[in-house]
Amino acid sequence: MYDVLLKDGLLIDPYQGIQEKMDVAISGGKVAALEPHISASEGRRLVDASGQIVTPGLIDLHAHVCHGITYLSVDPEASCLLRGSTTVVDAGTIGELLFEGFRRFIINASRPRIYAFLNVGSLGLIYYFRKQEWAKLIPEPSMTPLFVNLEDAARVIEANRDTIVGIKWHSTYGLDPALRLARELADRTGSILMCENHHQPNVLKQMKPGDVVTHIFHGLHTQGLLDEDGKVRPEFHEAIKRGIVLDVGHGVASFSWEVAEKAMEQGIKPDTISTDLHIRNVNGPVFDLPTTLSKFLLLGLTLEEVIRAATAKPAEVLGKAGIIGTLKPGAEGDAVVLRLEEGHFSFMDTKGVQRIGKTRLVPTVTVRGGEVIPLR
Ligand SMILES: [Zn+2]
Repeated sequence: MYDVLLKDGLLIDPYQGIQEKMDVAISGGKVAALEPHISASEGRRLVDASGQIVTPGLIDLHAHVCHGITYLSVDPEASCLLRGSTTVVDAGTIGELLFEGFRRFIINASRPRIYAFLNVGSLGLIYYFRKQEWAKLIPEPSMTPLFVNLEDAARVIEANRDTIVGIKWHSTYGLDPALRLARELADRTGSILMCENHHQPNVLKQMKPGDVVTHIFHGLHTQGLLDEDGKVRPEFHEAIKRGIVLDVGHGVASFSWEVAEKAMEQGIKPDTISTDLHIRNVNGPVFDLPTTLSKFLLLGLTLEEVIRAATAKPAEVLGKAGIIGTLKPGAEGDAVVLRLEEGHFSFMDTKGVQRIGKTRLVPTVTVRGGEVIPLR
C-alpha cells in the first residue's frame, strides 16, 4: 500500500526522458514506484490526474522569499508552494548578518524546500525598493550601499552548507569591488555565483562553469544579452560553451518579449526558467512560475523544454540531480499536477507589451514530500 497514488496523468519527467502516461506512487515522502498502471486500491490517498500533466515538483531558481523580514519578499507558501513550486531558491535577499533569522523563522518553518544564494553584501536586500528614503541619506542614490565581511560570510556558508547553494552579486553594487569580492567568496567556499545580466561582457568574464547569469532577457539599456544591433554578444555563445547557465529571472524589469524573441531567433534558449518573484510583480506581470513557463510555450519552446527548465536543469545547477526535479523511484516525493488550458490568454512582459497565447499551464495539485495539497 502506497501513501499517495497519482493516477492516469501524462508524466513529463525530462530527467528520465519520460513523456507518457504513467502512475506515480509515493511512500514515506519519497517516490516509491513509477509504472504504466498501478491499481487504485494500492493508494491510501488517490489523486486523479486524468486529462492532466504530472511533473516533478517545480523548482524556482530565482525568487525572494524572506517574508516578514524583508520588504520585497513574498510568502513562499502562498506564492510558490500553492502555485506548484515545491523548491524555491532565494536569490540573495539576505546577506550573512541576517541569515540565521532567515534560516530559523522562514526556511526551517516553511513547507516548500528553500535554498539560498547568499548576498555578498552583509545587509542583503533588506532595504530594497526603499531606496528613495535612503537617497536622502547616502551620497550616491543610484548605488546600493555595500558592506562586506568575507570572513563572517564564509563562516555562515560553512554552517549552512545544506541550505546555501551559492553567492549572489547584485548589479546595483557596481562591478568593483563587489563582483571581485563575490568571486573571491565563491572561490573560497567552493560555491557557485549568480550574477545579474548587466555590464556585459565584463560580468561574464568573472563567471566560471556552473555559475548562473540571471535576467537573461531584460530589455534595459545596461549591456545585456544583445548588442546595439540586436545581435547576441559573442561572449554569450562562448559562455554557453563554457557551461554558464542562462536563467530567466523574469522580475519587474527583466523580461522583454522583443529581447527573448530576437535571442531565440539566434538560437539562444534559457537553461532555467525562474520568476524573480517579489512584492512588485507577484500581482502581475509574473504571478507565478507556471505563468512564466506558459510565456515560453508562447515563445516556441516545447512542453518538455519548459518543464526541464523548471525541474531537471535547476536541480542539476543546485547539485541535486536525481534527488529533486525528477520522479525517479527514490527521489523526493515532490510533484505537481498541471492542467494545460486552451484559449486566448494575455501575457505581459515587463515593458507593458502584450502577447496572446493559446495555451497556459495551471497547477491544480501540489505534492510536497508525500503531502497532497489541492490548489483549487
Ligand atoms: Zn531577484
